[in-house]
Amino acid sequence: MTDSLRFACTGCGKCCTGHHVPLTLDESRRWAHSGGQVVVLIEAFVVDGPGMPADQREHVLRRSYPVPCGASEMRVSVTFAAFNPGRCRNLDDNDLCTIYETRPLVCRIYPVEINPHIPLRPENKDCPPEAWEQGPELIHGQLPVDPQLAALVQASRQADRDDIAAKVAVCQALGMTTSALKGNGFTAYLPEMTAFAAALAHLADGQQGSWSLHVEDDDLTVKLRALGLQLTSEAPTYYAFIGF
Ligand code: SF4
Ligand code: SF4
Repeated sequence: MTDSLRFACTGCGKCCTGHHVPLTLDESRRWAHSGGQVVVLIEAFVVDGPGMPADQREHVLRRSYPVPCGASEMRVSVTFAAFNPGRCRNLDDNDLCTIYETRPLVCRIYPVEINPHIPLRPENKDCPPEAWEQGPELIHGQLPVDPQLAALVQASRQADRDDIAAKVAVCQALGMTTSALKGNGFTAYLPEMTAFAAALAHLADGQQGSWSLHVEDDDLTVKLRALGLQLTSEAPTYYAFIGF
């Protein structure tokens, strides 16, 4: 893996097609108010137990929130993302972003990774080969070279931490309280957007619904039940279980 990558966006628009774009809480609010659909992705882990990647301990703890689950407790990580199964609703016929000046943080950061534990690899990105053969140095030693880009990455990570309690409150208000185990999959919800916007506008403090884990693997079920966690394997109706 190279230590240094140069990059110049070719404007191909591929990153604006078929990508659910993670949004901060404020960006989610704006997305909802402008008529967009938000998809909610949830994964959970037990501290120093199942689902927790030990080498990412600090990172996953800071962007997660404790919730009751059966007789035990787990931590959930919640992503609100712009639901873009095809072309983003803001991409015009010339492959230009119609909200360029106010586009989400993640759109400004791409193709750089937000997660400090995921190295940037061009083969994992949509950008064409020529994008990596021109332009200034983008990253050096996996760190963004441009201080403004580095600040955007930090702002995105900070929003993940600042927003998690409110995101969990929204999930609880809308009954989105079944998660998957981190590393085993995630659950995905497409909330009705009027209710989603209302939940965002009236964040309830301290609301504590009980959560459950969707698990389809028999061995994992036995292991998690032994920890007192509430499990389900029923065919979901309100959400989709995306297993790995
Ligand atoms: S908001 Fe703009 S930059 Fe972001 S995915 Fe949509 S079209 Fe692309
Ligand atoms: S996929 Fe890469 S090269 Fe194409 S528009 Fe997005 S950032 Fe630019």
